[in-house]
Amino acid sequence: MNNSVPDAASSTIAGTTAQDHLDRLCLTVEDFPRPGISFRDLTPVFADGPAFRAVIDDLMGPFTGQFDVVAGIEARGFLLAAAVAYATGTGVVAVRKPGKLPRPVHSESYSLEYGEASLEIHRDDVVPGTRVLILDDVLATGGTLAAATALFDSCGAEVVGCAVVLELQALQGRQTVQQYRVHAVAAA
Ligand code: AMP
Repeated sequence: MNNSVPDAASSTIAGTTAQDHLDRLCLTVEDFPRPGISFRDLTPVFADGPAFRAVIDDLMGPFTGQFDVVAGIEARGFLLAAAVAYATGTGVVAVRKPGKLPRPVHSESYSLEYGEASLEIHRDDVVPGTRVLILDDVLATGGTLAAATALFDSCGAEVVGCAVVLELQALQGRQTVQQYRVHAVAAA
C-alpha cells in the first residue's frame, strides 16, 4: 500500500498480480472518516481496468462453481458483486443499509470499526438452499460480514464463503466469521 500518485501506464504490464496492483494503487487516508482511522481507499484500484479485472478474478477464484448468487455489501461491495455476477452468470443480491429496500426485510445490527450500523436484505431475495458468496471491499473487525452472513442464514441460504479485497489483520476480523471460509485478495 502507498500514498503516491498511481502510474496508470504501468497497470498494463502483463503478469501483474492482484497483489501487485493493490500495492501500487490502494491509498491510505489517515483520520478518515474519524480521527484515528486509517481508511483504505480502493477507488484507484476500481478505476484501473487491469487492476479491477485482476482483483475480481482473485476475489472469486477459490469459490469457482460453488455459488448460485453473489451478494455485495453497500456500497463498495456492489461494484465487486456485480462484476463477479456478470463474469460467472450468477444473480446478484444487494445487502443494503436501512430504509432502502421497499418490501419486508431481514435486518441485522452490528458494531463497525467507527460506529454502529445495520444491514438489510429482502426476505425473499434468496430461496432456502441457495449457495451465496458474500463480497465486500475491506475486512476490518468483521462485524459487517458477520451481519451479512446472519441475514442469509435467516433466509435458509447456504453461505459458501466471504471474500474481500483487503483484510486488516490487526483487527482480527477473521475470528468474527471463523465458521465461514474467508478469502482476502491481500492483507495489510
Ligand atoms: P468491519 O465491520 O469492522 O469489518 O468493517 C468493514 C466495513 O467497513 C467494510 O464495508 C469497509 O468498507 C468499511 N471499513 C471499515 N474499516 C475500514 C477501513 N479502515 N478502511 C476502509 N473501509 C473500512
